[in-house]
This record gives sequence, C-alpha cells and structure tokens, in this order.
Amino acid sequence: MKNKLKSMHETLWINPSLKKIGSLAHDGRSLAMTDVYDAKAFIDHMSPYLSQHFSLKDGTLTSPLMPIPAFQRTLITFLGGRIPGHWYLKGDHTLPVSGSIKARGGIYTLLRYAEELAQSHQLKTLFESAMGPASPELTAIYNQHTIVVSSTGNLGLSIGLIGKSIGFNVEVHMSVDAKDWKVERLKTIGANVVQHAGDYSEAVKLGRSSASGRPNTYFIDDEDSVDLFLGYSIAALELKSQLSALGHIINSDHPLFVYLPCGVGGAPSGIAFALKAIFGENVHLFTAEPTHAPCMLLGLSTGLWHNITVSEIGIDGQTLADGLAVGRPSELASKVLSQVLSGAYTVSDEKLLRMLYLMHESEGIDLEPSALAGLIGPAKLYYETAGFNYLKAHDLLEVAEQAIHVSWAAGGSMVPDNVMAQDIKRGQDSSLNTF
Ligand SMILES: *Cc1c(COP(=O)(O)O)cnc(C)c1O
Repeated sequence: MKNKLKSMHETLWINPSLKKIGSLAHDGRSLAMTDVYDAKAFIDHMSPYLSQHFSLKDGTLTSPLMPIPAFQRTLITFLGGRIPGHWYLKGDHTLPVSGSIKARGGIYTLLRYAEELAQSHQLKTLFESAMGPASPELTAIYNQHTIVVSSTGNLGLSIGLIGKSIGFNVEVHMSVDAKDWKVERLKTIGANVVQHAGDYSEAVKLGRSSASGRPNTYFIDDEDSVDLFLGYSIAALELKSQLSALGHIINSDHPLFVYLPCGVGGAPSGIAFALKAIFGENVHLFTAEPTHAPCMLLGLSTGLWHNITVSEIGIDGQTLADGLAVGRPSELASKVLSQVLSGAYTVSDEKLLRMLYLMHESEGIDLEPSALAGLIGPAKLYYETAGFNYLKAHDLLEVAEQAIHVSWAAGGSMVPDNVMAQDIKRGQDSSLNTF
C-alpha cells in the first residue's frame, strides 16, 4: 500500500479490522452514544441563541440531504456504466457561519466553552439571554479570553466567526494551504491571523505552543478535541432522521454507504463513530483524501496512525483541496476510524476539479474542491477490483439497486464568486474524460 500511495495514483484500501464499536476509551474517559445524545440536547437547547445570532434555517443547525440524480446520470459517460441505488449529497456546504462542516464542531465547542465560563462566573448564560446579546458582564469576561486554533482554512474561519460573534478574542494559526479569501475574511472581522510557511501539522504545533501557559486562553486542538468530535457526531442523528423521513429504513437489504472527505480526521471520525453505533453492519463507511495528502489512509494501512506523515514516504501534501491538506492524522480519529471504517480511498486533484464542474453543470450545486472527494466513492466500489470484492464479500451486489449512498459535501457556499468561477473553468477545461 505504501508504494501505491507513493506513486500518487488513486487507490482504495479495505480495512481488515472493521468492527462495530459502541464505546470508545479516550483520555481516561469513555465516549458512547449517550455523549452524542447529550451533545445534541445541548445544541437543541441553544437553538434560540443560534437562530438569533447565526441565521439558522428552521432554527436548527442542520443541512439538507439532497438527491443528485442528474449528477448520477452524468457520471455514466465517465464510468462507462452506472452507479446503482439512491444517491444523496449531504449538504454541509450550506451550513451557516463558515459554509462548511466546521460549523458543526466549531459552534458546539465554542458554545460549550462560553456557557461553562458564564456558569463558573455565576453570570446569566447565553442561553438565558437567548434572544438578546450576552450581558455586559459576560461580554467583558469573553473579551478577556482568547481562543487559539490552527487550521488549513475552514476551521479557522468557523471558529473565528463564531468566536468573534460571541465576544472572544481569536487567534488563528493558518497553514500555508489556507486560501487568501479565508485569511482576508478573518482579518476583516478582527481575528488575529498568524500565517505560517509550514504545513498543517506545523501550524497545530505552533498554535499549541503559542497558547500553552497563557492565562485565559483556550486552544482548540483539532488533533485531539472531544468537543469537536461530539459536535460533528450529532450529524449522524440528523442523517438518520432525514433518511427515515424519506422512507429509507436501513437494513441488510437496504444498506447505507457514507463517503466522508478526510483531513486530520476529526469530522469524519465523529460522524462515523455515531453512524456505526446507530446502523452497525448495515452502514459502510469510507474516507476520501487527495492523492497528495492521504494521511489517514497511510496511518491506518500501516497501523502507525499519527506516528507517520505523508512526507516520510515522499509525498508533498500539495493539493488544491485545502480542507484536506493534512500530512498527519489525529490519534483520536485514527483510533475510531481504524475500527469503524470499511475502507479509505484517494482521489486526484484533477478529478476533484472535473467533478466540481460536473456537479455545477448537472445539479447547479457549487462546492469547494475538498467537498467533491466524497463523490467518487461509489465509483471506487463498483468500478475497482478492491471495491467490487468488498461488495461481493459482504453480499452487497444483490441489493445494489436498493443501496443508499451519501456523499458528504463538506464545504463551499462561502467561496467568493470569482474563485468559484475559476475552479469551474478549470474543471471544464480538464481533458479528463474517463474515471
Ligand atoms: C475540515 C474539512 C474536512 C475534513 O475534516 P477533518 O476533521 O479535517 O478530517 C473535509 N472537507 C472540508 C471542506 C473541510 O473543511
């Protein structure tokens, strides 16, 4: 597998140690579905505050599950065959605040922190002042606290926008991959942006050490945050109720396949953990990474998890999928994904752009390059030997027409029009005509 990854050709890895897990030991605590339900109850409880401050649709932090039949038909030309079953896009690109999946983890983590601070100072909480601004006393406390976070772009954007809106100071350590518009946007709202020449793991290290020992400072550690994990995991409950509202009951005759774009692994591991606990062997989970930054696939297939980086096998980490430009996976995410993933695959930048264009043309949906990674998943299963063998081994070929595929669209609605137009043009100009 290492040599295959080194060659930077696309690949699909099937996990030999897939299991159903109900709970997870981490950092001296046990994480289970009860924690996911608690996290959801907290977010639901905060929804009056969220609606007031972050213009939520229907007053909840949810994204639509969108059928993509036109895209499904379009792909036939490229595949020389069809993708059977029902195919949906999980539209996290439409989430408020950052137009990405990071709104889930970011909002949950910051609101938890904000409410704990209010309680520890015995002040009226944000929930208690739901429809109005925080009390001046509480705002004064928030003004004295600094949130530090490292990011390739979207997490920083999310934490920056939410943190500033609550009243915190925010310091964002951006890796070299961060897009200019994300940096500019953060500067405009008054976040302190520190740009680093190094990659994401380096930015995390520098962010962590900048925060270390400083009073009134909270470092949101994307490599190891239980709160981010739980914030993301709530999406599994949302998906479950959306599927049942559409009449999809998941069982062995109607299996669910979910394809999750993966950077450091935080978002996919939170979602995958809860989906596995809910659907057991009837859900098949896959992560998707760029061929130039396959850190999770490398960590899992070698069994080394966070103890190996893509640069150690000579891969440069350079990808236009900035949300996925990560060289080293998180330990927490590796621990979860090593058990619940059915597999992991890589996709080339060229294909991401081509799919970005095809999605724009066929469905009129505009996504950022990272968000397209989940859309190649079904093709990997039905049109590659390793995928086909997995389907066969799990008796999934006979039920292919009833299968439900969900590709997670993790970001894109806040991309400036000129940047989006440029990416669409690049995808259109690409000569890639077969997958
Ligand atoms: C962050 C992000 C991901 C992946 O999440 P990780 O927690 O880094 O694995 C995927 N897509 C987009 C657009 C993102 O911003």
